[in-house]
Amino acid sequence: MHKDKTNETAAENNYRTRSRMIHGRSHTHRWDYDHHVIPPMTSSATFRLDSAARGALGFAEFAGDVMESDGHHPIYIYDRLGEPNGDMLEENLAIAEGGEIALCFASGMAGIAAAICSLTKAGEHVVAHRMLYGCTYSLLENWLPRFSINHTLADMTDLSSTRDLITPQTRVLYFETPVNPDMCLIDIAAMRDMLDDINKNRPANKHVHMVVDNTFATPYCQRPIELGADLVCQSLTKAIGGFGTDIGGAVIGPMSQYRDLIMFRKDFGAALSPKSAWPVLVHGLPTLSTRMANYQKSAMRVARFLESHPKVEAVRYPGLESFPQFDLAKKQMRDDKGRFAPGSMLYFVVKDKEDSGVPARTLIDWAAVHAYTLTLAVSLGQIKTLIEAPYGMTHAALPEDLKRARGLLPGGIRVSIGLEDWQDIIADLDAALEQI
Ligand SMILES: *Cc1c(COP(=O)(O)O)cnc(C)c1O
Repeated sequence: MHKDKTNETAAENNYRTRSRMIHGRSHTHRWDYDHHVIPPMTSSATFRLDSAARGALGFAEFAGDVMESDGHHPIYIYDRLGEPNGDMLEENLAIAEGGEIALCFASGMAGIAAAICSLTKAGEHVVAHRMLYGCTYSLLENWLPRFSINHTLADMTDLSSTRDLITPQTRVLYFETPVNPDMCLIDIAAMRDMLDDINKNRPANKHVHMVVDNTFATPYCQRPIELGADLVCQSLTKAIGGFGTDIGGAVIGPMSQYRDLIMFRKDFGAALSPKSAWPVLVHGLPTLSTRMANYQKSAMRVARFLESHPKVEAVRYPGLESFPQFDLAKKQMRDDKGRFAPGSMLYFVVKDKEDSGVPARTLIDWAAVHAYTLTLAVSLGQIKTLIEAPYGMTHAALPEDLKRARGLLPGGIRVSIGLEDWQDIIADLDAALEQI
């Protein structure tokens, strides 16, 4: 099912991303929605094919053997292969991230697994940044080695030591930026230059591909493909979904990866349910710009408050002048109008002389019960402000010594800013800090 781009008009292309995330393609071939303002939620596992010939054409189009002609609507066969809600969301996600194609998956992890596996086979190798989302680390550490796909962890803030770890077998350079949870940034454009230099001496089937998890920044704050990434992964569960109602994921990239990704999805089976695609299509992505603009304003105020608080050891927010990689943040984290967009996520460490983790735990436990605007929960990017302690929660899968060596301390607290009044968020944090 080669994606038909012919229905994208030049005029639509001129609109800004904020508008395009709301309207998508004004006339999509994915479904006849001409008279619906909001697309209906599709709920049909299988589709009527009318004739054996039309069924055969549908399968041939899915396999990419024939181009989806622009004369007819796509021939849907079965939800796991493709369906209208997910397909429309894919069109809009491709626009948002500046990629040629997008594919949705049942979760962010399903998308990450598909991105890495579609680029590697037994005997090949992945270089990943040393700090990763816990399940991504577990995928690389516990599962891919069973298929003889091994990895090496690198400090990707250091270009030359990262380059030294790339072997002739390396096919994927994988990282998040900002990194979850420590907010460290990795220079996407510098990685592109490095990979171009490595790839120029290799045949195409030995190239190293850059895969970037853009979940923290979202396409509102950063578009890795424009900066040189090959594939972008998104957890739609987070800020793009925005309302915390559904799990989902996506991979965005070039047309050349489309077939491998969709075949992987078909056979491993982690397709996004249309009932989970629908809220992201109708509520999440269209409100991303408005929510993120608001999150960011509050995040900046909360970061400044925490920075000035005597019980806080350190605050990591890319919008602060004190942020160690502030210049890179200003270069890389930009909205589509070019304005600095440091995002909705921040990380802070409370003072903890004995390094016991007790002050952070006290703060969190108090906030979990008493702070109206602070919810103790994993996940992020929702309309409610969420706090958690990554050391023992989201990043529990990382070995203790590795966490400490990488600066992930028991006193660290991750905050995902929501849409509450910023003064209330600060008042609740202030009261929580009073307890330690
Ligand atoms: C949540 C998250 C994922 C995984 O997404 P799921 O939708 O939970 O599978 C991957 N990367 C990052 C940075 C995340 O925050």
